[in-house]
Amino acid sequence: MDCGVPFCHNACPLGNIIPDFNDAVYHRDWKTAIEILSTTNNFPEFTGRICPAPCEGSCVLGINKPQVTIEYIEKMIVEKAFEYGMITPNVPTKRTGKKVAIVGSGPAGLAAAAQLNAAGHTVTVYERESRIGGLLRYGIPDFKLEKWVIDRRMDIMEQEGIIFKTNANVGVNVDAEALVKDNDAVVLCGGSTIPRDLPIEGREAKGIYFAMDFLTQQNKRVAGDDEPAHPITAQGKNVLVIGGGDTGSDCVGTSNRHGAKQVVQIELLAKPSDSREENNPWPEWPMILRTSSSHDEGCERKWSILSEAFLKDEDGNVTALQVVEIEWYVKEDGSRSFRKIKGTEREIPCDIVFLAMGFLHPQKEGMLETLKIKVDTRGNVDSTNYQTNKKKIFTAGDMRRGQSLVVWAISEGREAARAVDEYLMGFTQLETKDSEPIRASSFS
Ligand SMILES: Cc1cc2nc3c(=O)[nH]c(=O)nc-3n(C[C@H](O)[C@H](O)[C@H](O)COP(=O)(O)OP(=O)(O)OC[C@H]3O[C@@H](n4cnc5c(N)ncnc54)[C@H](O)[C@@H]3O)c2cc1C
Ligand code: SF4
Repeated sequence: MDCGVPFCHNACPLGNIIPDFNDAVYHRDWKTAIEILSTTNNFPEFTGRICPAPCEGSCVLGINKPQVTIEYIEKMIVEKAFEYGMITPNVPTKRTGKKVAIVGSGPAGLAAAAQLNAAGHTVTVYERESRIGGLLRYGIPDFKLEKWVIDRRMDIMEQEGIIFKTNANVGVNVDAEALVKDNDAVVLCGGSTIPRDLPIEGREAKGIYFAMDFLTQQNKRVAGDDEPAHPITAQGKNVLVIGGGDTGSDCVGTSNRHGAKQVVQIELLAKPSDSREENNPWPEWPMILRTSSSHDEGCERKWSILSEAFLKDEDGNVTALQVVEIEWYVKEDGSRSFRKIKGTEREIPCDIVFLAMGFLHPQKEGMLETLKIKVDTRGNVDSTNYQTNKKKIFTAGDMRRGQSLVVWAISEGREAARAVDEYLMGFTQLETKDSEPIRASSFS
């Protein structure tokens, strides 16, 4: 590596030590590469497949050439390490006698569990779904992340001593207060699950679904679960996806796999440019147009579109969305706003609509209300150094920071684990982005 001052590791929310593992790979030293990678990332097999790779936006080479493909190198390191038997269960040699319950088995909960178990605590993960993984399992489609990748890691974590309890909905069929009483610490990693709605005229029409209802059903179908009572299918339909982000793109890919007649995806924001704007210089995250493989598979994309009303037939089925084009501008106070463009009103015909406009905050009824957990102004769980308003109760991931990324969830889980370990033991040796890395010694 000849980066001068590298920026990539700073852009990675985990602080992955990228130049060092790249150099090890250059020397075909996979053992050193996985050792370095594992000091900061518990699950490179997830991030190596689905991370949007903010690191690559900060790659020094990216100033004037295509950046180093860090994400794929990461994936290759971890897959080589599995292939060569370098990743084996690392059972703690000493147990502290402290019990920690983790609620939620998404990447935040799993990272917290892995770290706290490594510190010697007895960790139990409670998950309300029938399988472990959170959005890795039930949000992200198999065509982006095959589920054997999660199962492989679960096997290792179980062998390391972590207990997983599925169909365990804390605040519903698991008593939340008893859980707190019976454990020395609890970490809430329940995700951000309340979707943003589109309360416009005609919203009650049949055939309008939240993206997650569609995607979760499909992931369960692929996993071989029984067909639901009300299957949502895009087969032979004119699909309209509202929302231009990752979730929307996953709806596009899934609809195409169902055999949709056509797929249209609309977005309120303006179309990003193909390359960096002047006000978005390197090493910032490039705000550029991103095209996923799902888009490449077939989809008409439209930007600067405001949804005004859903139209329906006499049976109440959605038939079209009334839209108008908008123009974005900067107001005098510097904030951005939009105005409608006269004469651009039109209808987009559709038989099925997926609302993919993000998530508002975690679910409050049930666990959070029972435990009287304070939320912030955005409705996410409030915390100081990952500790909630209740001393024994910590939080991490989307439940704390709002809807985000897998890499951030892993980072949050690690940071929260460090805070819990310190709370339980009075000190901690668990590493996080800003702590001194300690080289793992568990690779053979
Ligand atoms: C469709 C979709 C696609 C995405 N694609 C990407 C991508 O490609 N790359 C990327 O980096 N990020 C992606 N994300 C974002 C990423 O998946 C999330 O940011 C990340 O999973 C958050 O992790 P988490 O552990 O905080 O929460 P989650 O993954 O949401 O996990 C929370 C878990 O807690 C469980 N739970 C909640 N309440 C309870 C309770 N009371 N008792 C027991 N269990 C409970 C839930 O069932 C769930 O399993 C995507 C998100 C979506 C919705
Ligand atoms: S986890 Fe994501 S941001 Fe970090 S090095 Fe890997 S691809 Fe880059």
